[in-house]
Amino acid sequence: MDSSGKPSTAQIVVLATSSALTAFFYSIYRSRATIVARLKEAKKVSLDQDLKTILSETPGRCIPYAVIEGVVRSVKETLNSQFVDNCKGVIERLTLKEEKMVWNRTTHIWNSTEKIIHQRINTVPFALGSHDDDIAATVRVIRPLDAAELDLETTYENFHPTVQSLSSVIGHFISGERPKGIHETEEMLRVGDSITGVGELVLDNNLIKLQPPKQGFCYFLTRLDYESLLRKQGNSVRLWKILAIVFGMAACSTLLYILWKQYIHRRQSKKEKSILEEFKEQQRKRLRELNIEESSISPTSCTVCLSRDRSCVFLECGHVCTCSQCYEALPEPKKCPICRASIDRVVPLYNS
Ligand SMILES: [Zn+2]
Ligand SMILES: [Zn+2]
Repeated sequence: MDSSGKPSTAQIVVLATSSALTAFFYSIYRSRATIVARLKEAKKVSLDQDLKTILSETPGRCIPYAVIEGVVRSVKETLNSQFVDNCKGVIERLTLKEEKMVWNRTTHIWNSTEKIIHQRINTVPFALGSHDDDIAATVRVIRPLDAAELDLETTYENFHPTVQSLSSVIGHFISGERPKGIHETEEMLRVGDSITGVGELVLDNNLIKLQPPKQGFCYFLTRLDYESLLRKQGNSVRLWKILAIVFGMAACSTLLYILWKQYIHRRQSKKEKSILEEFKEQQRKRLRELNIEESSISPTSCTVCLSRDRSCVFLECGHVCTCSQCYEALPEPKKCPICRASIDRVVPLYNS
């Protein structure tokens, strides 16, 4: 805050940044909260013989947002793990990640970073079946990769460290990047895994399908059960809400601080103005009493005795308004006759 009462650039930057972050976190919080609210309202359906009958009697043969739990079953073929024997699945994700340390020039610390350098996903059609082998009804899962929550099981991981030679180590210190190695993983959705699907359930030509729901609803395929999925989503909503509140409070307090400073400044300048007016009025009164014309007074003459020249500067206010004799005559504690600020120091004024 400068003497003009305007907010400083730093204060404006803090206000703008915290407001923008509040809006950003709030919008994420709103969309996450909507997802959780819809997830809570989703219709719970059990995978049994009656499912086909229920769907055929539903208008449009479709439940727009349903929760269904079941066991992964392959439809025709299965995928074999490339690393583990007798490990069969329906989704396989192979990832190669490069891990390295990067020197941060600001904090002077080596930070660990990783980058996906290659990823491949293989899928085969699959269905959800009942836990009970006697129930033949299955639900075909359509476009599983569109799911927002697709947690696969890590079936294999290996780390291949980078071979370091002395010259490469020196090179790394110069370049600020030190490779650690390559992290290889294989993740799978295995046949027999128990999963929860949330999406649109339709009966299409005698085949029950679980597919991505209409716009605004989130598609989930997870190894968690419904309650755990709800809890996990709820936790993320809470996180965004806390962030929005914290940054909202920062924005509000910055705004209040700026407004309060401006109010103080305005009150101060109003007070100074009224004191000056009062002083001028008193001076005019004295001029009338002494019967002196206002125009006959030199602009450099002392405002108290109106005869001698002004000869001292009052600090901290900086006013030059009296001669030194009149300053000496001011009553204790000495205050500036113009603004009534207390006088800490007096500097003689030399007119050359
Ligand atoms: Zn004087
Ligand atoms: Zn003053």
